[in-house]
Amino acid sequence: MEILLAKEMGFCFGVRRAVDMMEEATEETSHMVSLGSVVHNPQVVAQLKERGLDVIASLEDVSSQPVAITAHGVSQAVVQELEDKGVSVLDTTCPIVTRSQQWAKRLTEEGFAVIVFGDPDHKETRGVLGWADGNAYAIPSIDDIPSLPSDMPTRIGVLSQTTETESHFADFVRALLEQRMDVISELRVINTLCNATTSQQAAARELAHQVDMMIVIGGRESANTHHLAEVTREEGTIAHQVESADDIQAAWLEGHERIGVTAGASTPDSAIDAVVARLRELSDNGAS
Ligand code: SF4
Repeated sequence: MEILLAKEMGFCFGVRRAVDMMEEATEETSHMVSLGSVVHNPQVVAQLKERGLDVIASLEDVSSQPVAITAHGVSQAVVQELEDKGVSVLDTTCPIVTRSQQWAKRLTEEGFAVIVFGDPDHKETRGVLGWADGNAYAIPSIDDIPSLPSDMPTRIGVLSQTTETESHFADFVRALLEQRMDVISELRVINTLCNATTSQQAAARELAHQVDMMIVIGGRESANTHHLAEVTREEGTIAHQVESADDIQAAWLEGHERIGVTAGASTPDSAIDAVVARLRELSDNGAS
């Protein structure tokens, strides 16, 4: 069995930066907390916990320790509340997410309603909506466009969750225009997709054509990992999403000669190495 690796995969610049900042901070303070998981990856979270960084679920759990804002960012109201509490804050928001937040703020100030094409329950989307002063909507799919209120402003600004695919965002904007052309007086589309994500997706698509099965590594909650699995399936390849090497089932490999491996932006190199080692072990044991 041959194992091929995607040309680009694993930790993106934003996650690497956030983890580095947090590791550095834990060297200077014995205990700090992060508002939510640093990244959607349990192994990384566990490693940081060993260094003294605990995860808290909400602002109510903040006491006097320094608080880290994660790479996904938070709303303007949360930033304000942390300031009001007077705690020391380590802001590791990815600069690409900060750009989305600033666009949401600017569009609102200029009188636009803001539509974010993305998952309303995702932390990044909630944070970006929170910079738009209430006049913003998260729409996860084309099918949800009819749920937009009919009396919303006629000037509309559209952003995307950074981890969406280029083709899905383009389809969404096209469908929005088709369905709302009668009420839209001005439409501004800001490309807030992340290059790290789009180039990982392109590398995954390319690899999908060279193999007969893909293993996609990443946290179960990770949006960009889900999208990676999705784009490889769109290329007609079987894709199994795993969080760690332990999730791989020997039966998946039966009858497959070439296995491709890719990993989401919050997946550390150690998890990728462990998956490749497990695949080699199963191959040596004759699983394929
Ligand atoms: S995927 Fe892109 S936007 Fe998200 S943290 Fe990584 S670099 Fe930043």
